[in-house]
Amino acid sequence: MAKEKKVIKSKPPVKEVPVKVVPKEKVIAPPRTSSAPELLRGMRDILPAEQKYWRFLRKTAEDFAVAYGFDCIETPIMEPTNLFVRAVGKQTDIVEKEMYSFDDQGGERVTLRPEATASIVRAYLSHGMFNIPQPVKLWYEGPMFRYERPQAGRSREFHQVGFEILGEAKPAVDAELIIVGNAFLRALGVAASVQVNSIGHAGCREPFKAALLQHYRARRSEICEDCKRRLTRNPLRVLDCKIPECQPVKNSAPQIVDHLCDDCRTHFMKVLEILDEADVPYVLTPHLVRGLDYYGRTVFEYVPVGGEEGAQSALGAGGRYDGLADILGGRATPAAGFSFGMERIIARMREANAPVPELPAPSIFLAQLGEHARRKAFALFEKLRAAGIRSAANFSKESLKQQMEIAGKLGVRYALILGQKEVLEGTLIIRDMDSGVQEIVGYEKAIEELRRKLG
Ligand code: AMP
Repeated sequence: MAKEKKVIKSKPPVKEVPVKVVPKEKVIAPPRTSSAPELLRGMRDILPAEQKYWRFLRKTAEDFAVAYGFDCIETPIMEPTNLFVRAVGKQTDIVEKEMYSFDDQGGERVTLRPEATASIVRAYLSHGMFNIPQPVKLWYEGPMFRYERPQAGRSREFHQVGFEILGEAKPAVDAELIIVGNAFLRALGVAASVQVNSIGHAGCREPFKAALLQHYRARRSEICEDCKRRLTRNPLRVLDCKIPECQPVKNSAPQIVDHLCDDCRTHFMKVLEILDEADVPYVLTPHLVRGLDYYGRTVFEYVPVGGEEGAQSALGAGGRYDGLADILGGRATPAAGFSFGMERIIARMREANAPVPELPAPSIFLAQLGEHARRKAFALFEKLRAAGIRSAANFSKESLKQQMEIAGKLGVRYALILGQKEVLEGTLIIRDMDSGVQEIVGYEKAIEELRRKLG
């Protein structure tokens, strides 16, 4: 005790403030609103400023779909996990480590779709689409989910737009898809080249895998750890490796085109012939394989011109997947398709300053003054909308001056002014924003008069 007193005396006098001790259990956490909730890693908001790109991309996809005869299909974002495990393949990166899977309240194992082709084939089979005239041409657009390491061009939620042709084995289908994808990118102002390869059918791939294994095993000390793992689990995937140290081994690896059976070779040659005839340039890429198990024969990727040929750079990819319906337990159905990553395309469009249409600007501003006029203005605005006259208004503003300022900023040609007097007289004022000239017209005649003025 004596010691304590001594210490206190040696300090400058401090004004004592009574300290209220709050019992631990009563300490209140700061209100939640003090720090905004955060997005999950790898997910992002697509804000209004970016929407013009999305609108244009979706509209262009729809225009292409209509022109080439593809019908839109929407499948659920969540499916039984087993669908993707069977379709995409147990030993693919997607199934091994990238799926958002969980048990739902009923105890069923479900997954947020990592891609859409499996769902589309499921839908084709479960709705008996093989009974309608073939081929069935479908297109889709929507979010996909993969638990990947987020980086430029790679996120955990991303969007794909894709085209699929089911029920037709002919090489013309593969070529049509390649051509549609190519024209689609051009229409968006994105420069890309198409890389094409054939990975044959399972019968061609087995001897090829053996040759590949032999080549890689002989040079095992020169390859990365991932490739060593791939050799035992999914040997074709070594050809997907982008790590520089593996490239010399990859470049001297056997090529699958040398192992194609006669049927697969003929099929591939026909695809290329059609592309030649259609004047669609392509790059034969002997080491192109796809990361998903269901592909066979033709595979292709769209790589941006001038972009890095890294893992993140493919704008889209596709190929033939004749065995998928069978894998899913349905009747054998030849099919092919491709999908584009929408975020990657938009990033390219922005980089290239591709021209993107804006929404049409309003030509009318409807201003109101007073309670009664405001109520009437809502009805008039709806009439303008229904008549196809693009208008703007700000119903919460009360001052006419403020409303006229907004009209000026929007650059409309005419302002309609509806005040107390006009409401009582059944009229409204049309003000020419350039000349400032105002005229009074009957309320009922306003739409007709505006139509005439706007031509
Ligand atoms: P895939 O389904 O893996 O063949 O991918 C098709 C296209 O989707 C790719 O070429 C990319 O443009 C896009 N894509 C795939 N994964 C992602 C991701 N994690 N983030 C953004 N885009 C992706």
